[in-house]
Amino acid sequence: KETAAKPQEKILRVGTNPTFAPFEFQGKDAELTGFDMDLIRAIGKQMGYKVELHNLAFDGLIPAIATGNIDMAIAGMTINEDRKKQVNFSVPYYTSGLIILVNPDNNEVKSLDDLKGKRIGVQLGTTGAFKAATVPDAKVVTFNNSDEQFLELSNKGVDACINDHPVVAYYLVQGGKGKMIGNVMEEESYGIALKKGNDELTKKVNDAIAELKKNGEFDKIHKKWFGA
Ligand code: GLN
Repeated sequence: KETAAKPQEKILRVGTNPTFAPFEFQGKDAELTGFDMDLIRAIGKQMGYKVELHNLAFDGLIPAIATGNIDMAIAGMTINEDRKKQVNFSVPYYTSGLIILVNPDNNEVKSLDDLKGKRIGVQLGTTGAFKAATVPDAKVVTFNNSDEQFLELSNKGVDACINDHPVVAYYLVQGGKGKMIGNVMEEESYGIALKKGNDELTKKVNDAIAELKKNGEFDKIHKKWFGA
């Protein structure tokens, strides 16, 4: 008599904050789309897991990993020393950096120094927020997501925004109003965050990324979103 149970489907619970186009955002029909979304679906497939996406606030991602509510997070998250104390990171999968965005008619701001005493819009818990906090006398205005941050800039509620260059560039290409100031600041690398000490799952993710790089799938996804 056949008693074998139906093999259980393996599920990866992945947190993200889909307000960060072109990495994660809501497309038509509210489905989650973007470079990170394609990448994590490909990683899950490669690992033999079904990916279940959880829509969370950016600053709630690391706590959700710590409590075990999600297995990992992919959210254009910069690998930095402070976060490395709290989570494991995969190998870096994207090179980024911060940039300043101002309104088209702003001819005053030419560099980070010029933001002294100004109102700077940032997203809660991000590297842009940490950078803004270093500007003397700046009034840092914190938003829950990038969309609100950019909207407040066009409403002139803030004088500038600091956010990741690829996200600002995408916003402008999509018809958002503004101009970028200066060069991309120091290089930042994005990684997938996992539970601290879960080296086994981290290795599986790294192996999957390595395989997707080898078999051309990673390049295909990169090309789809960045054109090269
Ligand atoms: N890369 C930035 C950070 O990790 C912003 C990420 C985001 O807003 N999704 O802090």
